[in-house]
Amino acid sequence: MIKVAILGAGGLGRGMAQMLEHRKGFQLVGIADTEGYAYCDTGLNFKTLQSVAHVHLYPEAGVKTTPKQAIMQLLQAHGSQLDAIFMALPNLPVTFYKDITQQIATETNFKGVIVDALKRTQAVEMLLTINKKLAQEDILYITGAGATPGFLTTIAAVAAQSFVEVKHINIHFGVGVSNWEQYRATIREDFLHMPGFTPAMVEAMTDADIEAELDKRNGLLELVDMEHADDIILELTGLCHRDQITVGGLVDARNAKKPVATTVTIEGVTVAGQTTKHQFIVGNETTMVDNVCGPACGFMASGVQLYNLGLRGLKTSAEVMPRFSAEGIHKQVAQSL
Ligand code: NAD
Repeated sequence: MIKVAILGAGGLGRGMAQMLEHRKGFQLVGIADTEGYAYCDTGLNFKTLQSVAHVHLYPEAGVKTTPKQAIMQLLQAHGSQLDAIFMALPNLPVTFYKDITQQIATETNFKGVIVDALKRTQAVEMLLTINKKLAQEDILYITGAGATPGFLTTIAAVAAQSFVEVKHINIHFGVGVSNWEQYRATIREDFLHMPGFTPAMVEAMTDADIEAELDKRNGLLELVDMEHADDIILELTGLCHRDQITVGGLVDARNAKKPVATTVTIEGVTVAGQTTKHQFIVGNETTMVDNVCGPACGFMASGVQLYNLGLRGLKTSAEVMPRFSAEGIHKQVAQSL
């Protein structure tokens, strides 16, 4: 079994706990939020997790920690017992993932795979600067492994293979959530991409401010030309320049139904010189948990397989294909060595 810890227990953290129960070969053993953590070597379950507001209240496995020290305290106590970590934390300020990862690498004895669902280009650029440090500390970090970047980026990377030149890649997502409080960081961070908002303003907004901004827009957030790491991730694969990649979407923060279908459109030139497009449409019934946590889970499985084969440092999702099941990974690698 791949022993997993989830950092963050909001919408996506809990979504990952649910997803792991459906994918073979994974076992959730640890989870942290701002107040504390829960750890159990024989496994934590989603149903019990859903019955507690904070994870330190998880029966028998919960530990209340110093506020905001839960991640370090979980990993200092149990880091060496884990194979993989899923980061489901807010990314505000944008330096947060780089800072916390550096701390994990240097102040805990975790050696294994980290997977995130980061969105912003700047955040991925910052992580790239600690590539060497991660490798030295025996960590393989796969960034941009959620829906976008992640699921949709890798679809674009594969679809572009039938072209000799890529002209343009457009990712347009539709997201519906019945209540923004289920995904506080996700909705808050969407304001970063709205005209008239700066990161400092968004960070300072109270929940009531967010609610008021949603009221003004009837819960709908239209996002255009976002600073999204699909651009740097695809550029790094050599597909095209980041300026040829556009990302936008429509989010309904008050309705679970998607306001618009999610599409990935790849325009390119064929070997015969024809310009044409591929388009991929995501099933409307899939939710954020399906499209973020499912792929992140797949990247985690591939990450552990590659880790066992000796890969270390920082990789992007487009450099790694997600693997559906983690079953038998440790055994397979041992046999191939
Ligand atoms: P959320 O607000 O629902 O949950 C965040 C969790 O992190 C909470 O449990 C909170 O207690 C915990 N947390 C915050 N600071 C902490 C700290 N210092 N130590 C320990 N725990 C801490 O967030 P969410 O909506 O689940 O989103 C998580 C992240 O996923 C966001 O950054 C969001 O942008 C990203 N996201 C990515 C994609 C994608 O496709 N790539 C899609 C949606 C969301």
